[in-house]
Amino acid sequence: MEIWQQMIRDSVHTVDQLVEKFNIDRKIAGDLDEFFQARINPYYLSLIRYPGDPIWRQCVPDKAELEDFEAEEDPLMEDAMSPVPNITHRYPDRALFLVTSQCGLYCRFCTRKRKVGDHEKISMKGLESAFKYLEQHTEIRDVILSGGDPLMLTDQMLEKILKRLREISHIEIIRLGSKMPCVLPQRITPKLCNMLKKYHPIYCNTHFNHPWEITSESSKACEMLADAGIPVGNQMVIMKGINDDAAVVKDLVQKLLKIRVRPYYMYMADETKGANHFRTSIETGLKILEGLRGHTSGLAIPQFVIDAPGGGGKIPLVPNYVLHHDEDKIILRNYKHKIYSYKNYADHNNPDGYGSKNKSNGKAKKIEKEVIKPRKVKLPVLEEIEY
Ligand code: SF4
Repeated sequence: MEIWQQMIRDSVHTVDQLVEKFNIDRKIAGDLDEFFQARINPYYLSLIRYPGDPIWRQCVPDKAELEDFEAEEDPLMEDAMSPVPNITHRYPDRALFLVTSQCGLYCRFCTRKRKVGDHEKISMKGLESAFKYLEQHTEIRDVILSGGDPLMLTDQMLEKILKRLREISHIEIIRLGSKMPCVLPQRITPKLCNMLKKYHPIYCNTHFNHPWEITSESSKACEMLADAGIPVGNQMVIMKGINDDAAVVKDLVQKLLKIRVRPYYMYMADETKGANHFRTSIETGLKILEGLRGHTSGLAIPQFVIDAPGGGGKIPLVPNYVLHHDEDKIILRNYKHKIYSYKNYADHNNPDGYGSKNKSNGKAKKIEKEVIKPRKVKLPVLEEIEY
């Protein structure tokens, strides 16, 4: 047995352990266990500094989870968009492939509680129909292995899946959605990296939410993946009492870049059952983003998105930097709230600029091919104006 597997075995997971370790009332601990079981491995447990801290809040069951009955089991409608077991096919050219129900840690805010934990929740019997679906759908060029956490599979099992995917010629990219570099970095071994290298291009999206999660162990894990040629991105979720603060997120994204992890998405929390106490306002998210743009390098800035309830997919949000926009110019403000004007140049396919409106009737103007001539375009000038 590998060290990481032993650490899974040694995790806090029973009602007795919850009562003893975290002083949770036995009846509440039982109800929480029934709602969504706990798994806190010894590594992640060691990151807790005091009760209720940002690490504790992510992994220790809280009675507030039992007070939130209104939210959906499956807010992103992943099951409704599942043509065969284990596959969600929402976007045109990519598919989500759920390969296990197990995770190195059960996050209290998880969107897939309905799928995670119990082995029965994601059946391995569904793998064959999933492979067939991927083979038949030639428009799928990008497959995201998720679950659960695909790195909970043994190297052998994971390799079988990767090998089979690599036999499908239209699949160009394989992505691993794994929280292991953050919650159980001991899983990233030289043996695993050597195996993954054989199936490039492989990308990994991991999930750090707080700077305290960046330790010598998790840094080493991310660097090993990067050294194996696997670009690592980070998807974080804004949560109350954990990271709903621009200084905390700035610290996190800067530390991520140092360990060669590119901040990729910053999500509003999904409207999933039992997670109401984690939710923040949209204004908080926008404020965090404002606290990054201009204040640290663009490389460190994730896209801020809402994964739209009902399966609408990821929709980006940005603070309002546009004060005015017309056919001649756009008026913008920068991160210091200074105001700038940028000229609106017509382009070759759109010689009238600004949507090519026919001013007489307001309808889009038909552009004859012969009318479009290449012309010199002046370099745009940014000029500061009075405010
Ligand atoms: S690792 Fe991912 S799938 Fe597993 S419990 Fe955490 S958020 Fe859910």
